[in-house]
Amino acid sequence: MSRTSELQAELEKASTTYEEFAARGLKLDITRGKPASEQLDLAADLLTAVTGDDASTPSGVDTRNYGGLDGIIELRELFSPLLKVPSDQLMAGGNASLTLMAQALTFALLHGTAVDSRPWGQGPHKIICPVPGYDRHFTLAESLGFELLSIPMDSDGPVVAEAQRLAEDETVKGMWLVPMYSNPTGVTITEERARELAAMPAASADFTLLWDNAYGLHHLREHHPEVLDILRICAEAGHPERPWIFASTSKITHAGAGVSFFGAGPETMSWFHANLAKISIGPDKVNQLRHLRFFKDPAGVEEHMRRHAAIIAPKFDAVLDTLERELGGTDLARWTHPDGGYFITLTTLEGTADRIVKLAAEAGVKLTPAGATHPYGLDPANNVIRIAPTMPTAEDVELAAQGLVACVKLASYEKLLAG
Ligand code: PMP
Repeated sequence: MSRTSELQAELEKASTTYEEFAARGLKLDITRGKPASEQLDLAADLLTAVTGDDASTPSGVDTRNYGGLDGIIELRELFSPLLKVPSDQLMAGGNASLTLMAQALTFALLHGTAVDSRPWGQGPHKIICPVPGYDRHFTLAESLGFELLSIPMDSDGPVVAEAQRLAEDETVKGMWLVPMYSNPTGVTITEERARELAAMPAASADFTLLWDNAYGLHHLREHHPEVLDILRICAEAGHPERPWIFASTSKITHAGAGVSFFGAGPETMSWFHANLAKISIGPDKVNQLRHLRFFKDPAGVEEHMRRHAAIIAPKFDAVLDTLERELGGTDLARWTHPDGGYFITLTTLEGTADRIVKLAAEAGVKLTPAGATHPYGLDPANNVIRIAPTMPTAEDVELAAQGLVACVKLASYEKLLAG
């Protein structure tokens, strides 16, 4: 059989499988990295952990009242060893770390930073974006007027030589980074890479690492990497104010009602506090107290995360097993094997991602739009697809993966035949 007729035969087979899948009329969604309700139920006791008679912290703060801009000390102390940030350099805030990122960036644009008081917004400002990355990082920075500059990632983290080359430009003010189980690749930065980023020369004195450790505690496996002490690493490299550390309990307790955290060098904490004081009298301390009582201690958080893993690891495995069974050993796709976090990245043949997403939608499987993992929504190779397996049931995730595979095969053979 000639290569063309072989491909033709594969295309026909893929087309039949696809049509059969589509005919089932399923409605599946693996778009956003949301926890399943079973995961939210794990933290049900949060909702009754504080009552009107009982709303004071161990140190005697009445959480119902105004004040305490930095968040309640006991919760900061609880999360301090987990996030590797000293408690006096760690703030606890409202429910969204994304809002803290927006606030920190906005303060820098309007007032400059702790290192350099010249407002970033006075001139052109650019930010480095390792790709594939988190779409909301990109849209937030774009909405604040940053030019987005892509750099590649490999299995050790972002490619530092590329970042360094871009940072020679004084208008490049910082770099996004999801250090652990990155959204969407699942890659965890190595300590060596982190040290390189900490030491990297940059033309802008206040070049900032936006260290978004959203998934630092979200291990899927018993053996896992440890959170890096990026504050110490940067201080040792002579850039104590370089990292701005963000985290939250959004995917630990309740995604819409968790607690966010901000950590940084001492000067940056004073700067952030002073700016925040103009726009807030204090965070939701009642919710912080709920979290304190719910977890009790750092081991309580770790134990809770093991319960999450027991729910979601089988969903990741269902996707990975299906990909391996159907696409393993072919040249049609490769994918990441995350040990934590919320996502798997599927890399398909160049030029096929948008077609796959469209085919999947028509067959009842909703996928994150192609390009969403790249600045400006533009994936130049059009081959990256983000899979979020946590929200549907294990059964639905498996079905969605089967549907996805059918689309990958169909789009791939169409492409290969088209030459
Ligand atoms: N950072 C990353 C990398 C994320 O994936 C998410 C959630 N999808 C967030 C931040 C949002 O966090 P929060 O709920 O604390 O705003």
